[in-house]
This record gives sequence, structure tokens and C-alpha cells, in this order.
Amino acid sequence: MTSIVHETDVVVVGGGPAGLAAAVAASRNGAKVALLERYPQLGGLAAGAMVLVLDDMCNGNEITVKGIMQEVVERMEKMKLAVYPPEEDRRADPAMFRKWARWGLYDYYARTKPPPVCYAVAFDPEGFKRASEDLVAENNIHLRLHSWFAEPILEDDRMAGVICETKEGRQAVRGNIVIDCTGDLDVASRAGAPFIGGSYFLTTVFRLGGVDTDKAEAFEHEAPEQCLVVDKKAKELLGGSWDKWWLKTPLPGIVWCNCPHMRGYDGAKVEDMTKAQAEGRKRIDATFAFVRENWPGFEKSYIVDLAPQIGVRQTRLLEGEYVVTKEDVQERVHFPDSVARGRDYYTPYRALLPKNVEQLLVAGRHYSATSTAQKTSREIPPCMAMGEAVGVAAAMALDAGTLVRKVDVPTLQKKLRAQGADPGDVPSANATLREVATS
Ligand SMILES: Cc1cc2nc3c(=O)[nH]c(=O)nc-3n(C[C@H](O)[C@H](O)[C@H](O)COP(=O)(O)OP(=O)(O)OC[C@H]3O[C@@H](n4cnc5c(N)ncnc54)[C@H](O)[C@@H]3O)c2cc1C
Repeated sequence: MTSIVHETDVVVVGGGPAGLAAAVAASRNGAKVALLERYPQLGGLAAGAMVLVLDDMCNGNEITVKGIMQEVVERMEKMKLAVYPPEEDRRADPAMFRKWARWGLYDYYARTKPPPVCYAVAFDPEGFKRASEDLVAENNIHLRLHSWFAEPILEDDRMAGVICETKEGRQAVRGNIVIDCTGDLDVASRAGAPFIGGSYFLTTVFRLGGVDTDKAEAFEHEAPEQCLVVDKKAKELLGGSWDKWWLKTPLPGIVWCNCPHMRGYDGAKVEDMTKAQAEGRKRIDATFAFVRENWPGFEKSYIVDLAPQIGVRQTRLLEGEYVVTKEDVQERVHFPDSVARGRDYYTPYRALLPKNVEQLLVAGRHYSATSTAQKTSREIPPCMAMGEAVGVAAAMALDAGTLVRKVDVPTLQKKLRAQGADPGDVPSANATLREVATS
């Protein structure tokens, strides 16, 4: 018999960006909230996988993700652990690009050369963890770390809580509404909600310290042909990376490397993840040895750390009441029931609602989208916007005594806006307006 260790209104599973926003929003809107996390820290991939840029949150110069996301930025800024381009630098200009490119703070989707510098934030993982911990403590959220979701508690087709595996054995946390923010759809998939299997490459992020970044950048700008040769070889050794494979961080002399990318692995499979761990380290060691010898500025560098978690971008994806497509994202299709936004695309409430299971919501990178759509719509800010939306929706359902699928979306949109978020209820000038049935 599993002991019930806690009873509450809303159980949020997963303390990453989406789960944090969901828990804070639900609590601020009057619900009692428990937040469960398998690791000893909050932040999800932003902390454990050392994903260190917040992007995908502006449409030209319009900031599209606000609310709790911006609160986290403000908190990290106060700790001097966040850096972003000031407004006057946010434009397409070779000098601005040169200034901000090695921070990774430019528009990756722009077709212009150079791409415009835009509002995006480089941060430190300890900053994200601390901001998350403070928000959880200040909002009276019952936090349970070291709690690995194992099984849903279902009463007929209705969620009534979850069971976690812990060092103390199995523990049940009961609640009227459950929000799945595990990133891999652990809860919804086991509760019987339809889903599709997605995949994308894995990445073991690493950080190098003792880098003379001014010298390293000078090499790039003053000896571009020589630098290109070194960069090409480094990328061969990495075996997969973005163009700017090392980026500056708020900590002087410490750069983060969003690589190596590793294909052919499933981020939800134990054996694949074990093999990827070894492969990542091998590629990082080889790259580091080469760069130290060949890229001026890296002579005295050292490996600070490999991210404790391999970066998994996509595994299971919800097949919810609406499945967002690549065209929806690319064509900026506006939905009347939009409750969250990314850079210029919109997320309908229906994409956060599972089929078949009642009193269950999802938010984050496993939201209801096709695999190709998710690849360009799952950055940290939009995941936080989804979390905030479902947190408010859960509190509204409790207040009204209704099912989460019956929440009045126009009221939800109004509440989100009043609380400082942008639900995307008002389409921007470049949106594609399409009437979509909402039932
Ligand atoms: C290598 C890499 C680079 C990226 N680069 C960027 C970037 O530059 N900018 C950007 O904005 N985004 C980037 N992303 C995407 C972004 O990091 C994710 O999409 C985002 O973190 C998703 O947030 P989430 O809360 O949905 O999931 P996650 O961040 O994955 O958080 C899920 C949380 O749930 C917990 N959890 C999972 N399963 C269980 C369980 N069974 N029981 C209890 N807890 C559980 C996890 O420990 C974690 O804390 C990158 C992703 C990767 C992997």
C-alpha cells in the first residue's frame, strides 16, 4: 500500500521552466500547489543541461513572452547573472552583430546577413536555479525534490494525483488536477493520453573556463581565413554543432558550448542515453585538446564541466485536442484560443489539453505538436508561457468547479493579460488569421 504523503489542489510534475511557471501561476491564482521534481534542483534543461540562452521571445522588436519568464530574467539580472542587448543595439547592423554574435543573442530565423541582434538573454545556470527556488518559496508552493514520477492515480478517466518513486519507497501525492511538465510526457503517456513518438538529436553541453574571450574573438575578426580552418576542424571533431559553437556567458572567461550534437539516439531510452554519455565525452575531449592548441585565447583554458544531464530536445509529444503543425508555426497562424506565444507563433489552449483523460494539462516541450513543428517552437520562453497559461487555467477550473477542458478561454486570456503575460489573444500584424473551430 503506497502511503499518501500530501494532498493538494494542483500537482505539477517536473520543475523545469514550464513546471515552474505552472506552479507559480496556479498558486498566485489561489490554488494549493505541489511541485514534484526528480532531481535535487529546479530549472530543468536550463539548469541540468546547461542551456544558457533564453531566446524565441520576440517578433522583430516586439517582446512576445512576458509574465513569469520576465520575472526570472529580472531576478537573474539583479544577481548579475543575466546579460542581454540594450534596446538601441537590437537591429541588423554589422557592428552590432560583431558585438553580440558570440553571446548568441541574435535572431536565428532571420534571412538577412548579418541577422539582427534581438532581445534574448544569456544567463548562468545557478541564476536560473536560484530564481526558481526563490519563486517557489515566495509563492508558498509545496516542493518535493528527489521524487521521480512513477504512475498516475486515476479514478475512472480522471486524474487524482501521482505516485512517485523515492528513497523512502513509493509515495502518493493526491490532487484534483495534474499538470505534466516532465518534457517527455511521462504522466500523460502513462495515464492513457494519445501521443506520438518524436525525436531530435541529443547534445551534451559543456563549459570551458580560463578563456581569453577578447583574444579569441580578435582571432576570428582579424585572421578570418585562419580562424575558419580552425573552426572547421573543431566542428569536425565535435561531429555536429551550431555555427557559433562556443558562446560567452555572464561569468568572465567561461564559455558554454551547445555541442556536440549526437544523432540516432532516443532520449527516453536508458541504453541510448548511456551510450550517448560516453560518446559526448569522447568528442568533447578531442575538441578541447585541439582548440587549446590552435585557437588563440584558449591556450590556458580548461574544462569546467559537462552538463550533468544530456540535452534531450524531443521524445514523446502529446496528440492533444489540437496538434500544432509546422505550417501553423511558420505561417504564424493565430488561433482564437491562443493562450501562449513564442517568437511570432501562437499556442492554442487545445494543444495543452490531452484527449481521453480528465483533469490533466500539459505544458512545455512535449506539448501537442508534430515533430517538425516542435523543433522550432520549444525554446524555454514559450515553454514558460505555456506553463503560466495552464497554471492559471487549473486555478480557474478549481474556482468554477469545472473540468479543465471546460475553462472559459476568453476569461483565461484576460486573466493572463492582467497578470502581465501575453496570451496571444491579440494577433500581431504579421499573423495569419484563420478561423478555427474551438470545440
Ligand atoms: C542542448 C539543448 C540546447 C537548447 N538550446 C536552447 C536555447 O539556446 N534557448 C532556449 O530557450 N531553449 C533551448 N533549448 C530548449 C529548451 O531547453 C527546452 O525546450 C526547455 O527547457 C523545455 O522546458 P520544459 O520545462 O518543457 O522541460 P525540461 O526543461 O526538460 O524540464 C522538465 C523537468 O521535469 C523533470 N522530470 C522529468 N521527468 C520526470 C519524472 N518522471 N519525475 C519527476 N520529474 C521529472 C526534469 O528533471 C526537469 O526538471 C535547448 C535544449 C537542449 C536540449
